[in-house]
Amino acid sequence: MWRRRTRFDETQQLNAEPVQPPKVMHHPYAIQRVTSDCRYVTVMFRGLSRFLRTNPVSVQRSMSHSSLDGKVAIVTASTDGIGLAAAQALGKRGAHVVVSSRRQANVDKAVALLKSQSIRVIGTTCNVGKGEDREKLVQLTMEQYGGIDILVSNAAVNPFVGNMLDSTEEVWDKILSVNIKAAFLLTKMVVPHMEKRGGGNIIFVSSVGGYQPMLGLGPYCVSKTALLGLTRALAPELAHNNIRVNCVAPGIIKTRFSSVLWENEDSMDELKRQLSIKRIGEPEEIGGTIAFLCSDDASYITGETVTVTGGMSCRL
Ligand code: NAP
Repeated sequence: MWRRRTRFDETQQLNAEPVQPPKVMHHPYAIQRVTSDCRYVTVMFRGLSRFLRTNPVSVQRSMSHSSLDGKVAIVTASTDGIGLAAAQALGKRGAHVVVSSRRQANVDKAVALLKSQSIRVIGTTCNVGKGEDREKLVQLTMEQYGGIDILVSNAAVNPFVGNMLDSTEEVWDKILSVNIKAAFLLTKMVVPHMEKRGGGNIIFVSSVGGYQPMLGLGPYCVSKTALLGLTRALAPELAHNNIRVNCVAPGIIKTRFSSVLWENEDSMDELKRQLSIKRIGEPEEIGGTIAFLCSDDASYITGETVTVTGGMSCRL
């Protein structure tokens, strides 16, 4: 019975009988057959090239996935430890970085170090807990680089160690103000600049303590749990502006901040029991994860927290 020939039939035919080199083309049917196959292959290639031209993801994919060439990245608390490693990782992938922390001497040292590694960098003092410092940071970035593509909100304080019920209102004000409120307020300041660039990336730095509160660090750990919530709440709101919001939760990383843990052999032995990889992490291992999340390799990831803990179990 006669049936209309469909694209499916043509595809089947194409699969079943790959295009043959035009050997015998004298018979009229042979000529028709070769012409039809060639037309189909041409249409396929035309469709593919149109797809590559119009699909933004494939256009990005045709460049280097991990390159951050020309992106402008603000990293807070970036003169030491994880922040400095993040600035390094972003800079090595081509980003222009803006480093900052409270002390000018630390800023100068970090800028000199990054410049010596051929990273394009500027720096300023910024205590993220102060509104005027946050404004200065954003203003300097705009003046020097003309835009913002990446914010790594890394600053945190922990002014209290002890039983949670002994923590005071000042402790809570300080922790919530620096660890949470400043992260949100800085995000709010950079989003309009990211929108003007057509998108961007925001990374919060939480902690394994946000999943499993550590004894004696109650208020700090609560603030780190709140960052997981901030990530999830902001991601859908900013997705339509092409801004991805993700979070990194480091385990125990060898920095000044965690030195009380890794300088003490007993607590290190106890910690190692909880780790699959039997060592503490290096700041560069967090920096690399942050750079990955900011790159096109992570173009379909938003609202997530990546735990980088050497296998320490993490769940809420
Ligand atoms: P770090 O090595 O001690 O470095 C802290 C950096 O923060 C310094 O550059 C310091 O410079 C700056 N800083 C401190 N208070 C600041 C403020 N109010 N405003 C701006 N900058 C400030 O610390 P880290 O271990 O890298 O910690 C970085 C982040 O990782 C924090 O959010 C922390 O909670 C998180 N984290 C760390 C670990 C770990 O094991 N190390 C684990 C989980 C999460 P100045 O003194 O000049 O201000």
